[in-house]
Amino acid sequence: MTVSFAPDPNARLSKAINGLIDEALEHETAIQWPRDYLGGSRMGVECLRALGYEYFDQQMAHAQVTHLKRLEGGADDAEKFLEKRGTKFDGQVIRRFRLGHLHEPETARWLKAAGFELLTHDSRGRQFGWSVHVDGRKLGGSIDGVFVGGPPELGTVKLAYPLLFEHKIMKAEKWRAFQKDGAAKSHPQYVAQCQICMRQMEGLTGALLVGLNTDTSELHVEHIPFDPAEAERVFERGLQVVRAAKPETLPRLYGAKPTDFRCKWCDWRDECWSQPEDTKPVQGDRPPWA
Ligand code: SF4
Repeated sequence: MTVSFAPDPNARLSKAINGLIDEALEHETAIQWPRDYLGGSRMGVECLRALGYEYFDQQMAHAQVTHLKRLEGGADDAEKFLEKRGTKFDGQVIRRFRLGHLHEPETARWLKAAGFELLTHDSRGRQFGWSVHVDGRKLGGSIDGVFVGGPPELGTVKLAYPLLFEHKIMKAEKWRAFQKDGAAKSHPQYVAQCQICMRQMEGLTGALLVGLNTDTSELHVEHIPFDPAEAERVFERGLQVVRAAKPETLPRLYGAKPTDFRCKWCDWRDECWSQPEDTKPVQGDRPPWA
């Protein structure tokens, strides 16, 4: 038998194709118009200061492209600006986001086939969503859907409709943690997202957080009752971020140090730890894009 140590041509081919796809997806993502609001899906981010950096970065980019677009020939300049800014997500992460969006209507279809009345879009084909304007800043989000009817009781859980539908795809390990420990422990950010959406959509008694195991196609579903106090806490966090004059006025992670493992992978680590420990908000301070 002859053993070849030459690189497998198909491995090279695959690597090249994956590289081209990633490049294209990263470009597509980079040139998307930056959000002008703080999204409900982000309000449960553990570190408020990190959320502040993310929000300020987006707002600055949004202000910049809006300004460029108003100028003659500005559309090209706006795109060049966004291209140069790039995206912090690599192609593989973007693929995962896209997969999540693709799986969502299919899971909704399964649930409808199983007897749930589930609305995912309004009569004009738009996703349901919410937004709040506070002091010229915006908080908002869209929801995956609303269960308006279905079985009144399943297992030992009584289901009072309408209920929020929140769908997430999970790799097997994360899905097992969700199943074993419950969302509050395994995915607190998803619980916060459900609470803020229930607060804003009004009339919802709870949420069904549906986790799809992308390895096995199994669903684990958690019933999350609406908790007005918790929803208010999440909303207040959002307000704190959009009202901040700069991210450094927002608290760091509780007890964090520059060497903290929780800060190790943070995108804002350098900015965060090069700033003074406690920068108090200054009365009348306006954020730079305002
Ligand atoms: S470095 Fe740590 S404390 Fe600073 S923003 Fe990031 S997570 Fe928060």
